[in-house]
Amino acid sequence: MTLVADPTLHPTTPVLDLIGVTKRYGGTTAIREVSLTVHPGEVVVLLGPSGAGKSTIFRCVSGLVSTDAGQVRAFGRDLNTLSRRELDLQRRAIGLIFQQFNLTGRMNALGNVLAGRLGHVATWRVLLRAFPQSDRQIALAALDRVGLIDKAYQRADSLSGGQQQRVAIARVLAQQSRLILADEPVASLDPAAAENVLSVLREVAHERGIAVLCSLHQTDLARRFADRIVALRAGVVVMNRPAHTVQGPEIDTIYRAA
Ligand code: ADP
Repeated sequence: MTLVADPTLHPTTPVLDLIGVTKRYGGTTAIREVSLTVHPGEVVVLLGPSGAGKSTIFRCVSGLVSTDAGQVRAFGRDLNTLSRRELDLQRRAIGLIFQQFNLTGRMNALGNVLAGRLGHVATWRVLLRAFPQSDRQIALAALDRVGLIDKAYQRADSLSGGQQQRVAIARVLAQQSRLILADEPVASLDPAAAENVLSVLREVAHERGIAVLCSLHQTDLARRFADRIVALRAGVVVMNRPAHTVQGPEIDTIYRAA
C-alpha cells in the first residue's frame, strides 16, 4: 500500500525550504542554487552519486556551515537571521539519523531513546539520570512504535543494525522533532533491514506529520519510500518530482552520467 502524502492536505508553511542555496568550499562549488521544499508529513529523498552535494545540503540545513547565497528556512525562519541561541534551539528541534546509528553502545535502548528528551528536561535531571516518569513513558511509547519495546533494557550494541537504526528513529520520535534529517540511514544495512527501517520512517512521518529529508543511494528504495525525489548531479538539482511519477531508468541515467 502506498500512502502518498498530498501536500494540499498541509496548507501550512513548509517545514523546510531551501531557496537558491549555493555553498562553496574554497574554489569548489558543492551545491549551486539548490531549491527544495519539505512539507509536514512528506518524505523527500535526495538522490545522487558521491560528491553530488547531499551532505552539504544537510550541513546547511543543520546550520553546521553557512551558505554563500540563497536562503535556508526551517520552521518558517531564515537560518541566517537567527541569533546563536535561536540557532541552537532550532538545531535541537531537528532529529538526526546517521548512517552509523550514533547510539551509545553500552547504554540500553531505553537510555538511548531518553537521550532524545535531553532538550526537554532540566539539566540536573540529566546529570542525575533522573528522567521524570513522563519522559520514560514517552521513550517507551517511541520504542513500542518502532516495534522494539521488548528490547528496551537490552544494550544497544547487542542489537542488529536494523534494530539500532529503529532505536535511532525512536530517539527522534521521543525528541518530538517536526523535521528529521536522515543522512544515508540504510547504507550499512542489508536489503531486508533497509526496507524495514525505511517503512518505519515513512509511516511515522505520515502518521505524525513529520517532515523527512533523507539521502539514499538506492534508486529502487527511493522510488518506493519517497513522496518526492530530488536528484542532484554535481551540486545541481536535476530532478524534483513526486516519486510516483519517476521511472527507474530516468534515475539510473543520473548515476550513469555522473
Ligand atoms: P555527497 O554527500 O553527495 O557525497 P558532498 O556534499 O559531500 O556530496 O560533496 C559535494 C562536493 O563538495 C564534492 O565535490 C566534495 O568534494 C566537496 N566538499 C564537500 N565537503 C568539502 C570540504 N569540507 N572541503 C572541500 N570540499 C568539500
